[in-house]
Amino acid sequence: MQGSSLVIREDVRMYSVDFSDERIRELITWYVKSLQRAIDEIWENMEWKYDFKRRYAKVRIPVIPRNKEFKKYLRDKLMKDNPYTKHWVDAVIRTAYSIMENWRKRYVKGMARKKKPTVKRRFARCKITLMKVDYSRKTIRITLKPYEYIEVSYANQWFSKRIDEWKVGGVVLKDDRVLIPFKKENTYRVNREIAWDCNEKTIDGFSPQMGFVQVDLRKLITARIRYQEKRSRIQSLMKRKPKSARKLWEKYSRRERNVCRDIERKIAIEIVNAFPNTLHIFEKLNKQKMISKRKNKNKNLRKRVARISWINIIREVEMRAPVKKVDPYFTSKTCPLCGYVNKDLRGQVFECPRCGWRIDRQKNASINIYLKMKGFPPSPNTFYRVVTKRMIHSGKVWMRRGSGVTQIGGETNEMLPNERGDEAGVPQSLHRQIKAYVG
Ligand SMILES: [Zn+2]
Repeated sequence: MQGSSLVIREDVRMYSVDFSDERIRELITWYVKSLQRAIDEIWENMEWKYDFKRRYAKVRIPVIPRNKEFKKYLRDKLMKDNPYTKHWVDAVIRTAYSIMENWRKRYVKGMARKKKPTVKRRFARCKITLMKVDYSRKTIRITLKPYEYIEVSYANQWFSKRIDEWKVGGVVLKDDRVLIPFKKENTYRVNREIAWDCNEKTIDGFSPQMGFVQVDLRKLITARIRYQEKRSRIQSLMKRKPKSARKLWEKYSRRERNVCRDIERKIAIEIVNAFPNTLHIFEKLNKQKMISKRKNKNKNLRKRVARISWINIIREVEMRAPVKKVDPYFTSKTCPLCGYVNKDLRGQVFECPRCGWRIDRQKNASINIYLKMKGFPPSPNTFYRVVTKRMIHSGKVWMRRGSGVTQIGGETNEMLPNERGDEAGVPQSLHRQIKAYVG
């Protein structure tokens, strides 16, 4: 078995501090207007070129202007009638470029239309050069105009203890609050890896050190669907009573967010606590897992709903433990032994028509995700280096912890009676939390 290694990572935590000042509202008004002007300029000066390196060279691709002349022109234009320090203009330009670059990437992938981005939200992204942080007093001084400052304090906040010795990054100003990112380089010891496959009702893990693990999501997904249904019922009310419908809609959206975020956070904490010193491997979910149109509507809804939760859970795990992400293509349909891709796989069991490998499709996916992370191509050689016969035959290991969120519940008698449910009871030996379940 492998020894342990260290993962060094810069962690960022975003916290919000209530803050309200007329000068900030004025600044935001200027910022948003200038930002839109900068976007307009970049948009108009964009070139559309054929890219022959691409497969679909017939489509023209936007090229964002980045030369010195254009940047100078843009800066000079924004400097006119600008009451703030020039660093604010640079902050605007930087944000405009990142919005445009984002749009461009999405456009090239076919995810965005050929439509100029518009700034809809009121905010102002501050550059670190406009800030002076006093770590002993826990205050941030932000320059507005030459010799004009505002001071934001983050002392005595509920999160103060969590960000001791963390460095402050560029803040985002809103009308009624300031969002402060705190950064710190953290070192994690890793002596075990789990590859997780996200499914509609479960998250299924595979670890060469432990075998198969399963986390139950049903409670969470039912909650999400319940709110989704509530909101779709409100939608039918929209025409008759738009005002009250909108209010209800917002109320349920907020409630869904709070309720589900809470469950998602708990699940993430349980995963991290049950498997300390672990590198968690997930699929990249921005490359959307294919949702087939042939399938029925309900199933697609369930999948979409689950997707929101996966993204949130992964983010919550990421805040607490090292995470690595791999490309999601065909992870459940590929044979990890011979590499055959079974594209019309149906049902719960993966079966390889070429070599006869047969296993639950979710387990199969988690094995593939693990191999992908390692950079191992499918082959019996690498496969048997990480998957032992015992693992295959012992089936799943259910993960069960206190809050009941991750319990598999009801379905099987093979569960352990509830042991200590307290969070501090991180396993000394894993046998105490998890139990082999003959699947
Ligand atoms: Zn095969």
